[in-house]
Amino acid sequence: MASAKYDPGKATPVVLIEDGKFFVPSFRVKDKEYVVTLGASPSCTCPAFSRPRIGQLWHTPCKHIEAARAQEAFVIAQAKAKGLTDTEIGRLLVKYANDPVISGVLRVEREARRRAAREAYHDEQEARREASEAKVWKSTKVFGPTTDEEAFGVRR
Ligand SMILES: [Zn+2]
Repeated sequence: MASAKYDPGKATPVVLIEDGKFFVPSFRVKDKEYVVTLGASPSCTCPAFSRPRIGQLWHTPCKHIEAARAQEAFVIAQAKAKGLTDTEIGRLLVKYANDPVISGVLRVEREARRRAAREAYHDEQEARREASEAKVWKSTKVFGPTTDEEAFGVRR
């Protein structure tokens, strides 16, 4: 595991596991994440939370808990947006136009769907093009000579 210098400017997107429970990436260690549980007594699986420095309270909320708290509303809204129809997204975008979290989540979801639709369309076009090329190749083979004898009138 590569240990990088602490970078407060780096994005640490939290991932919702279940209600009140999140994966939070390590701020320093690449490809490492901790499990944060929010609620009445929040907890984190990181060393700073389980072994705080001398003079600190035992269960002082760590930066992962702070990150999960800061992004909780966003990731919950994000999970809910995935279950909405395109029409509902359009309607809710109008209703929550002044709510940066909800309208942001809805725009991100709408854009992801548009991108997926564009990619599906391109894949279909590609498949059709390949199928038609395969047809041309097959018909040449079917109608053209299939042996040297047929092609040259001689047995070679
Ligand atoms: Zn932590």
